[in-house]
Amino acid sequence: MSMESNYWLTTSLIPPATPGNLPPRADVVIVGAGFTGLSAALALAKRGATVAVLEANTIGWGASSRNGGMVLTGLKLSAETLAKRYGMELTRRMYATSLESIDLVEQIVREERMDCSFSRCGHLEVACKQSHFDAYARSVEVIAREFHHELRIVPRNEIGSEIGSNIYFGGIVDETSAGVNPAQYVSGLASAALGASACIYENTRVQNIQRNSHNGSAGFSVLTSRGSILAQNVLVATSGYTSRATPDLQKKIIPIGSFIITTEPLPQDLARELSPRNRMIFDSKHYLHYYRLTPDNRMLFGGRAAFFPETKNTIQRSAEILRRDLIEVYPQLRDTKIEHAWGGTLDFCFDTMPHAGQADGIYYALGYAGHGVAMATYLGTKLAEVMSGSKNDIPYAAIPFPGAPLGLYNGKPWFLPIAGAYYKVLDWVS
Ligand SMILES: Cc1cc2nc3c(=O)[nH]c(=O)nc-3n(C[C@H](O)[C@H](O)[C@H](O)COP(=O)(O)OP(=O)(O)OC[C@H]3O[C@@H](n4cnc5c(N)ncnc54)[C@H](O)[C@@H]3O)c2cc1C
Repeated sequence: MSMESNYWLTTSLIPPATPGNLPPRADVVIVGAGFTGLSAALALAKRGATVAVLEANTIGWGASSRNGGMVLTGLKLSAETLAKRYGMELTRRMYATSLESIDLVEQIVREERMDCSFSRCGHLEVACKQSHFDAYARSVEVIAREFHHELRIVPRNEIGSEIGSNIYFGGIVDETSAGVNPAQYVSGLASAALGASACIYENTRVQNIQRNSHNGSAGFSVLTSRGSILAQNVLVATSGYTSRATPDLQKKIIPIGSFIITTEPLPQDLARELSPRNRMIFDSKHYLHYYRLTPDNRMLFGGRAAFFPETKNTIQRSAEILRRDLIEVYPQLRDTKIEHAWGGTLDFCFDTMPHAGQADGIYYALGYAGHGVAMATYLGTKLAEVMSGSKNDIPYAAIPFPGAPLGLYNGKPWFLPIAGAYYKVLDWVS
């Protein structure tokens, strides 16, 4: 098994970034070249703004090239939890954004003629316990009644038509969800943004953002590892890699490692047996597994196998755990070779919600909690519209953005082992 090798990157060509030095100023500086930053850059450049995307590493280096490529309806939290917390009216708007965000990805892929295997293959959630399956009926009913969105329950005796595994107690299918090759998609966004005249500077780490006024108009001075740049507006799009460059945001983000393995390409018959409808699949646990076939019929299998972000060690350990878990789901893969293993960092806020808005004049969108392919595209695009003068009607801008309980968190996630143990116990008892 080749460790620390991201399968998706073997399928995609990342476009060359903008050469040369940073310009002295831009209308908008965007920190981070993932789905959030690049979709904002594309939308802003199309409206004629001068845009400089500053990326500490390379285009798509963060979660955007490392994820499962599941373009899912809904949010990380259930509709019931959202309604209890925010009321049904705001929850309806949030759920609607989750559907709109998939349409938006589809539209951008089509308009920009991206070759990224986008397909409306639907998703399948599988129940790990009878009690989880029993709860599905109520969720499906609430979602149909309140959001006019139809999901389908698959009882245990019919689950074979959806998945070649007999360990589950049934499932839910949502035909609206989609799959994509994320590295090809993030490359496509970068090419489109560059094509619309946005500039993207790699190996440019933002160190500090200060308010500044230039020629009488208010703005920001952004200090980077390659010099400074002035901007009227700044968007921070650094997700799980948010750092001390934006200390107030860093304190509100919990970085969590998620890991993926992929097998060698499977024979067509075996691939169809494992996933007859080629769905995006995930299970009902807090410590969930997510899996799918890749366009070349590998089984891609991911999970939150370690609660620390990716390092050589966590990838190695996670790959072993994930292989064991994969064989529990699919004993058919006992002798199949694992060819790739990698990890990436998710961004959880303390309320498990996405947040998009402005703090001290600086725009931000983050907190996707593993549900970011479509939502990052959506919030990046929406904030670009807000910066261009549209009203901010993003429902996630209207909710409180909590920091750590009791203000204890200083950006070093010391509580993660405790949180990890907590989720394991929840999985065991719930
Ligand atoms: C293993 C894994 C699997 C996932 N699976 C799914 C899935 O199947 N479906 C789904 O919807 N979501 C999934 N997600 C979540 C999804 O990938 C993210 O929510 C999404 O990619 C976030 O995009 P982003 O542009 O906000 O951030 P990122 O893509 O993480 O980009 C942030 C960028 O900011 C840069 N940066 C950070 N600090 C600085 C700085 N100071 N200066 C300059 N640049 C900086 C980083 O180098 C990085 O490239 C997964 C995530 C992981 C890690």
